[in-house]
Amino acid sequence: MVYLNGEFLPLDQAKVSVLDRGFLFGDGVYEVIPVYGGRMLRWEDHWRRLQDSLTGIRLALPLERDELAGILERLIVAGGHDQYIYLQITRGAPPKRDHAFPADCPPTVFAMASPIAYFPRTEGVRAVTVEDIRWKWCHIKAITLLGNILMRQHAVDVGCAEAILVRNGRVTEGAASNVFVVLKGSLVTPPKSSELLPGITRDLVLELARDHGFHYLEAPLTLADMERAEEIWLTSSTREILPVTELDGRPVGKGGPGPVWRRMDELYQAFKQELREGK
Ligand code: PMP
Repeated sequence: MVYLNGEFLPLDQAKVSVLDRGFLFGDGVYEVIPVYGGRMLRWEDHWRRLQDSLTGIRLALPLERDELAGILERLIVAGGHDQYIYLQITRGAPPKRDHAFPADCPPTVFAMASPIAYFPRTEGVRAVTVEDIRWKWCHIKAITLLGNILMRQHAVDVGCAEAILVRNGRVTEGAASNVFVVLKGSLVTPPKSSELLPGITRDLVLELARDHGFHYLEAPLTLADMERAEEIWLTSSTREILPVTELDGRPVGKGGPGPVWRRMDELYQAFKQELREGK
C-alpha cells in the first residue's frame, strides 16, 4: 500500500494528474527515510529538513508532524526487513499550466515504503570529479534533480559509482551523497551551506565522530585535498558510508577501504542494530 492525498491504496492504483506541478515543473520536495526494525531513523531530523525544504519553496504542508509520522508508520511493512520511506510533496495540480504559484491548490502528498537494496560497500567504489552544474539552492531537497541525474550518469558512463561535485575549485558533495575525507588523520567534511544538501547521514557520522573521540572538522575541501586524502567516503541514507578507493583513475590512499572508515562503519552498523532492537 502507498499513501496519496489522504488515501492508502495499492501502488498501481495511485494516480496523479498530468497537470501536477511535480510532473510539469519538478515543483516539489522529497525525503528519503531509512527504517530499521520498523523504526524510522532520525525522524525528527527528516521532519525538520522537510520543513526547511518546504519553507525554501514557499509551500505549506497541510499535515502536522505527528499526523505525518502516523501516515508513514502505517506504510512500514511489518516483518523486520530494512526499508526506506520515499515521501514527495508537490505544489498540486491546478487546472492551468502557469509558472506562477496557483491559488487555492492543495499540494499532492505521496509516500511509499520499499525494501532497502543492499549496496556492497566493503570493497569500496570508484568516483569521478565533475563540475557542479546545479542551481544555487542545493540545501533544498527538491525533486528537480536533472543536474544530479546528468552528473551521476556521467559517473556511471565512465565506470564509477558516484560523481564528486566541484564548484569554484571546492568540493560540495556527491551527486546523491555527502563527502568526507580523512586528511592527516582528521575527518573533514565541507560545512553546511546552500551549496549542498544537509544530509541526515552526514550529521549522524559527525555525531558518532564526536561521541567516539575522532578528530573531525567541517571545512572546505579543494581538489588538492582530495588528491592527498588518506581516505574518501560518501554518505547517504541508502548507501550508508561508502569508501571511495579510486578517484579520477588514481588510488585513494593505499587503494582500499581505510582504517578510519572501518571504525566508523562499525559504529554506524551498531547504531542501526540498536534501532532494530529498539534500544
Ligand atoms: N546530497 C545529495 C545531493 C543527496 O541527494 C543526498 C541523499 N539522497 C545526500 C546528500 C545525503 O543525504 P541523506 O544522508 O539525508 O540521505
